[in-house]
Amino acid sequence: MRSCVCLLAALLVAAAPIGAQPFAAPRDSATRVLMSRLATLSADSMEGRRTATPGSARARAWLVQQLTAMGAKPLGASYEQPFRLRPRGAGATDSITGVNIVARIPGRSTAGGMLVMSAHYDHLGVRNGEIFNGADDDASGCVVLLTVAEQLLRDPPQHDVILAFFDAEEMGLQGARAFVNAPPVPLASVAANLNLDMVARQDAGALWVSGTSHYPFLKAVAESASKASGVAVRFGHDTKDLKPGDDWTNSSDHGVFHGKGIPFLYLGVEDHPDYHKSGDDADKVDPAFYAKNVTFAGTLLRALDRALPRFPVR
Ligand SMILES: [Zn+2]
Repeated sequence: MRSCVCLLAALLVAAAPIGAQPFAAPRDSATRVLMSRLATLSADSMEGRRTATPGSARARAWLVQQLTAMGAKPLGASYEQPFRLRPRGAGATDSITGVNIVARIPGRSTAGGMLVMSAHYDHLGVRNGEIFNGADDDASGCVVLLTVAEQLLRDPPQHDVILAFFDAEEMGLQGARAFVNAPPVPLASVAANLNLDMVARQDAGALWVSGTSHYPFLKAVAESASKASGVAVRFGHDTKDLKPGDDWTNSSDHGVFHGKGIPFLYLGVEDHPDYHKSGDDADKVDPAFYAKNVTFAGTLLRALDRALPRFPVR
């Protein structure tokens, strides 16, 4: 995700200690599970999860196994929803197959409206012999989806929640585009998209909530989730007056939902020194910061679920 090189990231590169130590191992069991999942999905064996590679297939098999084991049902006959795409870049002519993974947690109510919670499982693959593990980008978001799915299965939401693990985000939001162009559910019933992309790194010390300048009615919902969870967040990165790259409106899969007029909230961190580098590894993640962001995301999803009947008609 994201192509911006902001000044802050440049300063952090300059300030980063050489040979920084990994963070201490987490003590509580929920955080241990979180970090174990993050390490698995961003392991070298996944070979950077580039679309249409054996590493991508391994990552997909692991995600499907996790969903199956917890009892989350696929949306439709299969978790796997393939689509064709043409990779970007010079000389790219042959189309390849990407595969989204989509599950559905049924809501308690028969009232209409549903939420789509998303993250992308693809990353950059292997370049010049270096594996780009993409722990933050975006194994971190996928593991949050798994964690929230377990919570929703234990205590179902009011409305249906679609969990979308998109493919080919790094090739131009292509998995999300395939989803909205051939939607497995009527788009009119999708009340909002909550997209997570890069939610584990604490270099700049803040989780951002983006999208409320486009959809102001969602700000109070996010503020209530921040208060209820005790997790401070910042709002912004969603206005046109920002310098190029700092407006994140179209910088990850939520942009595709926004393009269809579907309200979105996006959770993410500022770019960090390992953004789109081979050093984006799980041992750079502060377990305490990541765990807090998981708590906020789960609380926010619940808050959106409760507030959904009051969303403006579109
Ligand atoms: Zn990303």
